[in-house]
Amino acid sequence: MSKIATAIVIGGGIAGPVAAMALRKAGIEASVYEAYPRPSEGIGGALALEPNGLSALGVIGAADAVRAVATPITRSVLALGNRQLGEIPSLPGLPPRHVIERADLHRILDEHARTAGVRFEHGKRLIGVEESKRGIKARFEDGTAASADMLIGADGVRSTVRGLIDPTAPGASFTGLLGFGATVDAGLDLEPGTMTFAFGRRAYYLYWRTRDGRTAWGANLPAAKPLTLREARALPTEHWLDTLRATYADDDPGACLARCTTPGNLQVVGALQIMPHVPHWYRGRMVLVGDSVHAPSNSTGQGASLAIESAVQLARCVRDLPDARSAFEAYEALRRSRVEGIAKRGAKINHSKAPSRVARVFMPLALPLMFKLMDLEKTMGAEQRYAIDWSARVGSAVRASAA
Ligand SMILES: Cc1cc2nc3c(=O)[nH]c(=O)nc-3n(C[C@H](O)[C@H](O)[C@H](O)COP(=O)(O)OP(=O)(O)OC[C@H]3O[C@@H](n4cnc5c(N)ncnc54)[C@H](O)[C@@H]3O)c2cc1C
Repeated sequence: MSKIATAIVIGGGIAGPVAAMALRKAGIEASVYEAYPRPSEGIGGALALEPNGLSALGVIGAADAVRAVATPITRSVLALGNRQLGEIPSLPGLPPRHVIERADLHRILDEHARTAGVRFEHGKRLIGVEESKRGIKARFEDGTAASADMLIGADGVRSTVRGLIDPTAPGASFTGLLGFGATVDAGLDLEPGTMTFAFGRRAYYLYWRTRDGRTAWGANLPAAKPLTLREARALPTEHWLDTLRATYADDDPGACLARCTTPGNLQVVGALQIMPHVPHWYRGRMVLVGDSVHAPSNSTGQGASLAIESAVQLARCVRDLPDARSAFEAYEALRRSRVEGIAKRGAKINHSKAPSRVARVFMPLALPLMFKLMDLEKTMGAEQRYAIDWSARVGSAVRASAA
């Protein structure tokens, strides 16, 4: 029986509400404190949930609501310039990847969490903590405070909690790419359920048909400087549109997608960042979850899915182990090797987003062959078939067996 009865969750993005819901399911009272003044303010763009992410959402009962509004992707295709290189193989027997508007995912998580009894407070930016033998007190920028038995840092790549746990913790690294997205009426005849990953002449992009027959696309623009979301949005949208149109001018359908994008529907995401190895995941009554501790490259498509998995696993550990220390230790043992392995895979793919001239010559020959020879089950099976057994008890032995 856990000594932990209450939890403060910092961050109302993806990991935060999921952790709070899973804790509620485990009988622990959880409240979410989010820096933004209102739910989902300024949230745009789409993200993909892999089968493992959807499976973890199933534990907290939110998977069906996601499936009801998301676009299932049953086929992934690779393209170089204007030429299709072939289909990326997928694992048999798994449900498809689902692409969902970020705002829809936030709304679903918010609704489910409130129904489960989770309390949300907006406009609460964490600035510090005070820990004692009896509990932890979170201090917010607006001068208010909240107390509980534990505090979860689900506050994203620029996490404040990470620095409170370890002032020497590394910050996020810039991938060298800025993210953009839009859903447009491009009049393209795209096959439903197919997502195309395209190496354009100057930059990488991806596109798919939405449920309503329009085309959604995402662009990864090489950039020397890691602009934050705020910095990127401070520049006029027209500036970014001109840059995107010049970058994809020689690509088909990249040129058309950039042309159809308007200042009104362009989503400026800012620098794409990854978290390097974080030495300390927890200290005292504080622990990290989601992007704050393990943001992989967006090329893995696993950031949100891993954040959801970690949130559910953390709640299981808190439920089953007697105190914060043993719960956090078991949680790290369950999660670290998995998330770091996926981050490693992502770092490799990231480099290949801007292939050299030589690589462009060899890719049409090498990639189909590589797909044919690839042991898919070995490379992707463990990643996508991961499923959490909520009813199974987490024993302290997990430290030794670290699944
Ligand atoms: C362009 C792009 C495309 C992506 N595509 C995919 C994809 O296809 N598939 C996928 O799985 N992942 C994708 N990701 C990654 C995914 O968005 C993240 O992994 C996911 O959002 C992590 O969730 P999180 O809750 O840990 O962090 P976040 O979603 O970043 O949430 C953190 C929250 O904490 C709040 N916060 C921060 N500091 C404080 C504070 N001091 N006090 C209170 N609140 C605070 C923030 O306002 C925010 O709401 C993509 C990311 C980008 C940038």
